[in-house]
Amino acid sequence: TRRKLVVGNWKMHGSHAANAELLQGILAARPFAAADVAVCAPFPYLSEVAVTLANSGVAWGAQDVSAHAQGAYTGEVSAAMLQEFGCRFAIVGHSERRAYHGETDQQVADKAQAALSKGLTPIVCVGETLAQREAGETEAVVKRQLSAVIHTLGQCIGEIVVAYEPVWAIGTGRTASPEQAQAVHAVLRAQLAAATARAADMKLLYGGSVKPDNAAILFSQADIDGGLIGGAALKAADFVAIARAA
Ligand code: 13P
Repeated sequence: TRRKLVVGNWKMHGSHAANAELLQGILAARPFAAADVAVCAPFPYLSEVAVTLANSGVAWGAQDVSAHAQGAYTGEVSAAMLQEFGCRFAIVGHSERRAYHGETDQQVADKAQAALSKGLTPIVCVGETLAQREAGETEAVVKRQLSAVIHTLGQCIGEIVVAYEPVWAIGTGRTASPEQAQAVHAVLRAQLAAATARAADMKLLYGGSVKPDNAAILFSQADIDGGLIGGAALKAADFVAIARAA
């Protein structure tokens, strides 16, 4: 059976003081018996997160990574740099980056490849908008998004984490029902199974308004292996409760 994974995506939130309080709250709640736990912090805070979480059993990651190895790419951060800070994860293809920064499926796939090349685990986000769901396009959209990654990574696809994050559920308080989420996760796992023998071992996270009171039912679905948590990851008590619900 797959061990659960609960990842906090802090997005563009935080300060020295707020981060310290949040991390101490998470550390105080260890151990997390049923789940691996990680936080994905803004770039400037990675070094302090690395120091605070060193040898704690709580992993850390970034919210993006450049597709390029190095060079004249002002403002970008490479996988090698993240690796120097002990990052285990890099979120790639979050819907906010796809929507606000125009990231394409292929760019997302290239970022995933860049992360893997330095030993980071990419958390590849896929998900449909409300208009796409209402048009009956959910399956087609998430399969198209994942397909670019499968084709780019080849057999390495087995090393990624996938996060299904319906755009309409992000930050809205409107969670996908456990049945809706499970249905998409099953589609994604079947797509992965056609590409790798490791599909049954891969972690598929759900994200979108996961809260302490809905985490357990979501995480109990057959193909949901944990969560990618936004707003509720900013309060230690909520994030800890979600990690314990795994
Ligand atoms: P919320 O948990 O705030 O809905 O955000 C989900 C998300 O986008 C995590 O990456």
